[in-house]
Amino acid sequence: MKIPLLDLKAQLGPLRDEIVTAVTAVVDSTTYIQGPEVIALEEEVAAYCGAKAAVGVSSGTDALLVSLMALGIGSGDKVLTTPYSFFATMGVVLRLGAEPVFCDIDPVSYNIDPDKMAAILADDTKKEIKAIIPVHLYGQCADMGAIMKIADRYSVPVIEDAAQAIGAEYPEDNKEWKKSGTLGLCGCFSFFPSKNLGGIGDGGMVVSNDIAFAEKVRMLRNHGAKPKYYHAEIGGNFRLDPIQATVLRIKLKHLESWHAGRRENADYYTELFSTNQLLKNGKVKTPVAIYKKQALEQKDVCNYHIYNQYVIEVEQRDALIEHLRKQDIGCEIYYPLCLHEQECLKDNMGNVSMPNAEKAAKNTIALPIYPELTREMQAYVVKQIETFFA
Ligand SMILES: *Cc1c(COP(=O)(O)O)cnc(C)c1O
Repeated sequence: MKIPLLDLKAQLGPLRDEIVTAVTAVVDSTTYIQGPEVIALEEEVAAYCGAKAAVGVSSGTDALLVSLMALGIGSGDKVLTTPYSFFATMGVVLRLGAEPVFCDIDPVSYNIDPDKMAAILADDTKKEIKAIIPVHLYGQCADMGAIMKIADRYSVPVIEDAAQAIGAEYPEDNKEWKKSGTLGLCGCFSFFPSKNLGGIGDGGMVVSNDIAFAEKVRMLRNHGAKPKYYHAEIGGNFRLDPIQATVLRIKLKHLESWHAGRRENADYYTELFSTNQLLKNGKVKTPVAIYKKQALEQKDVCNYHIYNQYVIEVEQRDALIEHLRKQDIGCEIYYPLCLHEQECLKDNMGNVSMPNAEKAAKNTIALPIYPELTREMQAYVVKQIETFFA
């Protein structure tokens, strides 16, 4: 049985006519930059997240970049972040001439460990750390309550890299569920096609409850012009296409049901791994939904994890990947090399050691989790993993 890691055709099928009609309308409108579709999407995403403002941008990467620019981050500044993320999280820091400071991850959630973060900030006596970028990896929020408490103590702004986590929820003060991107100063989403809300090309968004900050991002996304042709600040062309916006508006209506489908699939995988003993004998470590307990008390209606990826840990990871690919099962490593180990900054990082991140990079493997995946397909994936360990 051929099982891809992600099947965008399956998602497109039932939406295709609506999407083609909407894209055709944008083509016929001749409004190809900004315009009503972009504004409508911004309003809809802001409402969905419970954020006061949203600004459409050209990608998740540019959402991060323009957010750092709005904070005035540049040469001589340091930005605290995780060593275990997609390159963009660190790339934007380097592009601005700033320096990343890495904080190792919690080995269960794969997200920044707040205790380690507190120690790093306590050591930053010269106050060089000017921003913190936690990443909500795989679709589960970092421990934002703890992170914000520490960040507030040192008055350092927090930019959430929520590229994989639009709609993921976090129980603030164990009372109120809040959506990712609304817990820090701002949140950055990516509409890359493989994200839970993906366009038909690149796109991204910055959400914030700080109106002044959002307005600055809005200005910088269009070369810093205010008014047109007058530039008190240097921005860039970080605009979102109306064609992407119109497609994303259609898909946004289905996002909650897709999240639920992914969560059901995740539960079923875990059930299968429990039945076949691979969990019990420690061969496979399944992902832990940290905030699920609170969610269950509220009848499981919360997006405690949106499973952009379902990532297991195994010891013979590379051999397992080879085995699964031979059986036509799509799988991927997110990510095989930590950020502090990337060649582009080899010289600067010296002997930085991030044991938890390095272990994750060595042992993790993402399995197909998309909502259209059938139980039969999941059983086949798990069966093949069983065969590998037999
Ligand atoms: C996808 C992703 C990005 C970048 O988003 P693009 O839209 O591809 O630029 C940034 N951070 C993380 C964690 C991502 O997964």
